[in-house]
Order: sequence, then C-alpha cells, then structure tokens
Amino acid sequence: MEILIVEDEREIAQLINNCLSREGFQCHIVHDGLSALSTAKTIQPDLIILDLMLPGLDGLEVCSRLRNEGMAKDPYIMMLTAKGEEIDRVIGLSTGADDYLVKPFSPRELVARVRALLRRSLRHEKTAQIYETEHFTVNLDEHTATRKLDEQKTEELDLTALEFNLLSAFISYPGKVWSRTQLIDKLWGADFFGDERVVDTHIRRLRKKIEPNPAQPSFVKTVVGVGYKFEDL
Ligand code: CA
Repeated sequence: MEILIVEDEREIAQLINNCLSREGFQCHIVHDGLSALSTAKTIQPDLIILDLMLPGLDGLEVCSRLRNEGMAKDPYIMMLTAKGEEIDRVIGLSTGADDYLVKPFSPRELVARVRALLRRSLRHEKTAQIYETEHFTVNLDEHTATRKLDEQKTEELDLTALEFNLLSAFISYPGKVWSRTQLIDKLWGADFFGDERVVDTHIRRLRKKIEPNPAQPSFVKTVVGVGYKFEDL
C-alpha cells in the first residue's frame, strides 16, 4: 500500500511518515500542490493524505484536479484541516475527498483512520455488494444488515427499506460528512419535495435500532450545522 503525504509543514509531514511507515505503509512526502499532482501520477498511490492549506495550489484544488483527471488508479484522499476551517472541510468533501482529519490529531487516530479507509478499498476490490465495518455488515444483494454485539454474538437488524438504505449509505462511506440534502438525494432521489428535516426522523429511528445508547450515539454522529456522519473505528 503506497501513501502520498502532501503537507508543507515539514515536521507534521515527517510525523505522519513515521507513524505510517511503522505500520508497514510505503510513504512518499511532497510539500506543495504541484508536486502532489506530478508525484501522484508517477507513483499511483492507494491513498493521498492532503493538507488543505498549501502554498500555491491548495488542497481543494489538488483534490478536484486529481478527481477530474481520472487517474489510472483512483486514490483515496484524506484531507487534513486545521481547526476552524469547518466550511472548507465540507467543501473538501464535496470535491471528492473521502475523509478528513482535523489537526492536531494523535498518531493513533491517524493510523485508525487510514486503516479504515484502506479496508474500504480492499472490500471494494473483492465485491462492492458487501460493506463491513467493525460492528456492522450490510449485504446489498441479500438486503440484510447485522450488528456484532460481542466477539461471539451477532444480531440481524430489523430495518425498514429506508433505514436499510440509510445505513448502507453511511457504511459505504465511513467518516463522510453528509448534509441532509445529500442524504435526501441518495435516499429519495433528486426530485424529492418536502421538508429536509424528514431525514432527522429516520436518523432517530435508525439510532434506536443500532445504537447501544441512542441518546448518545456512538455510530451515527451529528455534525453540528452540517448533518450526519457514520463512524465505527
Ligand atoms: Ca499547511
């Protein structure tokens, strides 16, 4: 697995490199956007860790150029943002980043997030019809969803079609921040006409069925001012 690290702050770049090299990933570092584009083309990485604020070409621009150029191997992109760049962060997701990480982050968090993303890529290669996270498995062919209760026990979830689609959407993009509009497009289609708060109702029902404590969700998280995201690390 090859990872391209794009970060102009050299200490952070080195720190990321050390964390991920220790885990056995092959890492390359570049410090600006243009080098990111050319190096990405040469080495065809599995994952690009892309800082948002870069000199010259910024992370958003790099991200959208990579996506538009249609690389031979479509890399996963994890955007790095500093605190307080919330809005940019969301724009980043809609220009094609797969996940984001807010600085400062711990090495443990970095490694966990990278593993979660790459696990997704392995599963995609095997079959696109089954999505798995730490606790959940969704089988799109059989229309079944299960939750792991502990090492031995797994329960089948009793979901409505809508809840099933909602969970599938979440699980197929762990860590992605969804706006209500995006969820509506995905679940009802673009011709939906009504109050987008309808999403909240279904989220509430889904949480009741999958969260150990629906009042303090550990999987379906609210992202204040934006919408929702699913996390299961
Ligand atoms: Ca920077």
